[in-house]
Amino acid sequence: MLLIDGGKAADDAPGLRTGGVPLVPDEFVWPTCRECGGPMLFFAHLPLDWGVVAVFLCQNNPGLCDDWDATAGANRAFVFHGPLSAATVPAEGETRLGAVTALRPRPADTPTEEPVLGRLGGEPDWLQGDETPDCPSCATPMTFTAAFKEGAEFETAANFGGGGLGYVFHCRPCDQAAFLWQR
Ligand SMILES: [Zn+2]
Ligand SMILES: [Zn+2]
Repeated sequence: MLLIDGGKAADDAPGLRTGGVPLVPDEFVWPTCRECGGPMLFFAHLPLDWGVVAVFLCQNNPGLCDDWDATAGANRAFVFHGPLSAATVPAEGETRLGAVTALRPRPADTPTEEPVLGRLGGEPDWLQGDETPDCPSCATPMTFTAAFKEGAEFETAANFGGGGLGYVFHCRPCDQAAFLWQR
C-alpha cells in the first residue's frame, strides 16, 4: 500500500500520521538520545492490527547524532498496546514536527494525484544497500513495516539527510520495532 497525504490531523489523532503527540501507555518515559542526551523528536504514529508503533529520532543537532542508524541510540521505535493516551511532551529540545499530517493507505496499483508520502508493508525500496535490522531480542531479520518520506513541506518535514527515506521494521513475536533512514 502507498501512503497518501491525507491533510492535516489533530495532535492526538488515532490514525496513521506523522507529527503531533505520541499515544502511549501509562508507564511511558519520553526517549532521550544516547549520543547527545536530548529528548527525541516524535516522528510517526503507526497503528497496526496487533499494536501501535511509535517512531522517535533525535533532531537536536541535525547531522551530528547518528539518527539514521537502527542501533546507535539516536532513534527509537516502540511497540505499544492499549489503552494509550497522549504523552506529556518535554518542555525542552526538538520534540515535535511543525505539522501533523494524516497518511491514508492506498493500493499501489491505483492511480493517484495526491502526494505519496510513504509505503505500508510489502518490500522496502532501499535507496542504498539492504540494511534490514536484526531483532534486538531474537536476532532474526525484522519484518518491513513502512517507509516514510521526509514530508511534503520543508518547514514541517523530518530531516532524513535531504530527500531520504525513513524505514520502520518490526518483530511481532518479540514486540520489537526499529527505525533507520537512508538517502
Ligand atoms: Zn542526539
Ligand atoms: Zn524478535
